[in-house]
Amino acid sequence: MTARGTLPFPAPDWPGPVLKAIAVLEGKGFECYAVGGCVRDAALGETPHDWDLTTSALPEEISAAFAGLSQNLAGAKHGTVGVLVDGQMLEMTTYRVDGSYTDARHPDGVAFTRSLKEDLARRDFTINAMALHPEKGLFDPYGGMNDLQNGILRAVGDPLKRMQEDALRILRGLRFMSRLRFHPDDATEAAFFKCAPLLQKISNERVYVELTGILIGAGVREVLTRYSDVLGTVLPEILPCCGFDQYTRYHLYDVWGHIAAAVEAVRPEPLLRWVMLLHDIGKPGRFVPDEAGVGHFKGHAALSAAMAEMILRRLTMPARMIKDAVTLIRWHDAKVTAEPASIRRWMAMLGEEQFLRLLEVKRADNLAQNRAVSDRQPEIAEIRQRALTIIGEHPCLTLGELAIGGKELTALGVKNGPELGRVLNLLLNRVIEGSLPNERDALTGEAKKLFVRFGGC
Ligand code: ATP
Ligand code: MG
Repeated sequence: MTARGTLPFPAPDWPGPVLKAIAVLEGKGFECYAVGGCVRDAALGETPHDWDLTTSALPEEISAAFAGLSQNLAGAKHGTVGVLVDGQMLEMTTYRVDGSYTDARHPDGVAFTRSLKEDLARRDFTINAMALHPEKGLFDPYGGMNDLQNGILRAVGDPLKRMQEDALRILRGLRFMSRLRFHPDDATEAAFFKCAPLLQKISNERVYVELTGILIGAGVREVLTRYSDVLGTVLPEILPCCGFDQYTRYHLYDVWGHIAAAVEAVRPEPLLRWVMLLHDIGKPGRFVPDEAGVGHFKGHAALSAAMAEMILRRLTMPARMIKDAVTLIRWHDAKVTAEPASIRRWMAMLGEEQFLRLLEVKRADNLAQNRAVSDRQPEIAEIRQRALTIIGEHPCLTLGELAIGGKELTALGVKNGPELGRVLNLLLNRVIEGSLPNERDALTGEAKKLFVRFGGC
């Protein structure tokens, strides 16, 4: 959604514990405001996912004001005290000015201040530098509301200095642009480009979280297209794709343009978006033009899968997700037809959930191709429909689901060992292909025939 149309500021639904915490601190003579993301999101008409509070009270003063309540003091040195107020964990941070930065990420030290305006000055973007009070209203010394209204992402203070201090702000900025479809002002954008090399100093974990945030945003295509050079500092593997002409009528865009369109075309779910981002990353490495000058990319899916595995491991994606992502990338280009036997074979190989995901991947891939030449949408929709029907029939796709098992076969006289497994797998294949019903008698009869063929056991 965009900011426009939802402003001026709608009164947010203040959660009870937040109002209570503000009242407690004010009762002790301190100031306290909601700040940052919750103010931004409330102004956009969204429900904030957490409420951060900023206060003139020092950490020990916060702690004393909430004596008797469960507290988290791990961040107290940096000004943050967590307090469990009526079942809700609230973070309250003392007004703070950050010291100098030497590692492009963390301030060398922090100093506390009693000035809210000074605290807001250390925040990254104007839309994140607003404070809100239930009675006093909005405190917005850097024009955040105006920028929110106009869809502008603007650094607080000198953009170059702010990005040099902490390069993570560049990725945060791209994330807000993707999520809100905002655009940066010229100076902020110039700072993003200029300071992008500093992103190499940011930890892979943080990069992964921010990239995922960028990927699931509604404005992801524009961010990927416009900021490929910035993203290339943390994902250098994408750079050969940018401007790489495919020399084929099946495509309208270069490899990177296709990738950006394919990411946008798939459901905004982290795994699927990562898969589309990396599905064709191996294409430049597999480009072979034929005599007519037409581009071919044989083997690119396997190469993309191998590259994706390295990239996602480096970025610390959870192992289970990496496995699923790599499998989907490996098979994104494989032929899938609408015959029920073929659908069951794929589902036996990948699992039902992964097969449905593969169809989503194929759909998005095709949506980002030249559909005037090849429109696979109706076919993919039909395969999906049939797959759902098949799933509803609870098909037998694994040895465990076969109506007979090792016990029945040994009763027929088969010795426990490799032969047993071989026979069971043959039976399963026939059931999956539909040439044999998954019924005890039919399977036993077939098993007997197989023993005869194998010369007994
Ligand atoms: P969201 O929680 O939706 O990701 P947010 O803006 O709340 O967005 P948080 O990481 O929760 O982001 O940070 C809370 C606030 O702290 C921000 O709104 C901003 O004011 C400030 N902030 C966070 N990270 C930085 C940073 N790297 N540099 C400067 N200010 C920051
Ligand atoms: Mg937040």
